[in-house]
Amino acid sequence: MTQTTIDVLKIREDFPILNREVNGKPLVYLDNAATSQTPIQVINAIVDYYSNYNANIHRGVHALSQEATDKYEAAREKIRAHYNASESKEIIFTSGTTHSINLVANGFSSLLNKGDEVLVTAMEHHSNIVPWQMLCERTGAHLKVIPMNLDGVLVMDAYHDLLSDKTKLVFCNHVSNALGTVNPIAEIIEAAHSVGAAVLVDGAQAAPHIKADFQRLDVDFYTVSAHKICGPTGVGMLYGKKEWLQKLPPYQGGGEMIAEVTFEKTTYADLPHKFEAGTPNICGGIAFGAALDYMNSIGFDNIANYEAELLTYATKQLLTIEGLKIYGIAKEKTGVISFNIEGVHPYDIGTILDKLGIAVRTGHHCAQPIMDFFKIPGTVRASFSFYNTKEEIDSLVSGVKRAAQMLL
Ligand SMILES: *Cc1c(COP(=O)(O)O)cnc(C)c1O
Repeated sequence: MTQTTIDVLKIREDFPILNREVNGKPLVYLDNAATSQTPIQVINAIVDYYSNYNANIHRGVHALSQEATDKYEAAREKIRAHYNASESKEIIFTSGTTHSINLVANGFSSLLNKGDEVLVTAMEHHSNIVPWQMLCERTGAHLKVIPMNLDGVLVMDAYHDLLSDKTKLVFCNHVSNALGTVNPIAEIIEAAHSVGAAVLVDGAQAAPHIKADFQRLDVDFYTVSAHKICGPTGVGMLYGKKEWLQKLPPYQGGGEMIAEVTFEKTTYADLPHKFEAGTPNICGGIAFGAALDYMNSIGFDNIANYEAELLTYATKQLLTIEGLKIYGIAKEKTGVISFNIEGVHPYDIGTILDKLGIAVRTGHHCAQPIMDFFKIPGTVRASFSFYNTKEEIDSLVSGVKRAAQMLL
């Protein structure tokens, strides 16, 4: 096993919320796949914005507006560099992954024809299923599903068989939020391109653990939500290859996204502004950049190694509990453990854990088709971050044991 190179106790000092108590017990926050906590460096960036240079961007001649514009555009450039996109105008600020996906799905309404095919995987988040269903209803295209096996791994042979010259789009999450599976997106993208299809990768769950390289992957679209990588809620990004973004029509009309407006005809602004109608979440965009700075200061390799240690440790400990079953046992996995105890409803386990100060998620995790596949109503999901400790995992394990004793 790789040696840990992160000082977790020192890192925890950056997160004020980790000091609080819940129900009289120290908070053990293991719901990182739903949203991550915010370090003081990012909180300070937000306070700095509203304390010192709050102004609308791209329009004002005055100093504050210029300062806000410069910092907002610097954040865009930071995001570009982090993901190795070739140009910063390929980075569109959105309110998050859901908005990013809807923007692309809406744009493809005018590019798809009846009989075209769109592929999604069997392990998508609802935000990567519903917009495509709506798109197919509008266009007469067909939605087909790339199956997974009982380990929670995509069946790649079936994927290759589904691809044909009818395939126009493929949608896949980089990491499943419900199972933790890391999908082989490089292979998925290459195969899709060989039949001329574009690929959108939902990177919401991968972003906290894996630094994707957009040019190397040759991905067409990629989405991120800042709140899963230590940033604020309500902001995220859509990456799109320039050629695609130029082809897609604007999503929303309004200020900022126009070049010229008359009542006869409006021309649209250049990228990225064509997709950024209205006053954006300026502070959020800047804080998104600060969050990437923070995570890079720890290092994504260090984060991945440490989280892998936590995952191995937690998996081993949890499996000592009688009747406990883990869903999603792919070799390539991030720090997500979805589990159930035979004969116990996941919600009841979650409620008892909450009494002990332990935050986990219970339910279908916005991925009902996965739950249907395993024929279960939901799971308990514990998801780890680089600021979690082995002691917290011990608390989880003893909490789950206690819940099992009480409920069985
Ligand atoms: C969280 C998540 C989403 C939704 O992100 P929002 O920030 O709620 O838009 C989509 N897909 C995956 C895989 C996620 O983990």
